[in-house]
Amino acid sequence: MATKTGPKCPICGKPAVPEHRPFCSARCRQVDLGRWLSGDYVIPGAPVPEEDDKEN
Ligand SMILES: [Zn+2]
Repeated sequence: MATKTGPKCPICGKPAVPEHRPFCSARCRQVDLGRWLSGDYVIPGAPVPEEDDKEN
């Protein structure tokens, strides 16, 4: 009942381990890293705000 609720792996949803947090394993960490490097990482619910050109 009093289970410690730590962060979950953003890749597969498994409980993250301190050694690889916030991921559950080195594998998931690599997957996440690959997404970043490929520029294909999309954060849901975080639209990029577009600002008008304000020169001053
Ligand atoms: Zn994982």
